[in-house]
Amino acid sequence: MSLILEHIAIDPQRISELHHTETLHSRAYACPVCHGRGYALPDVWDKDGKNKTCRFCEGSGKIAATITIEWEKL
Ligand SMILES: [Zn+2]
Repeated sequence: MSLILEHIAIDPQRISELHHTETLHSRAYACPVCHGRGYALPDVWDKDGKNKTCRFCEGSGKIAATITIEWEKL
C-alpha cells in the first residue's frame, strides 16, 4: 500500500529576527470521518434523518492543517 507524507523542514537560516512567526498550510486531505464524501453514513445521522452533512468537515469533504512556527531565544 502506498502512502504520501508531507514533511516540514525547520531552518533558522531563513529568518532575520526572533519572534518571527511563520504560517504554513498543508495540502488538502480527504476528511477522515466521511472519507471525502462530505456527508455522514446512516449510522451517524440525526434521529430525524435530516442532518446528513459531515459534522467534522461541514460538508466540504476536505481538511487541511495550518502550522504556526514562532522563533524565540532559549
Ligand atoms: Zn467530513
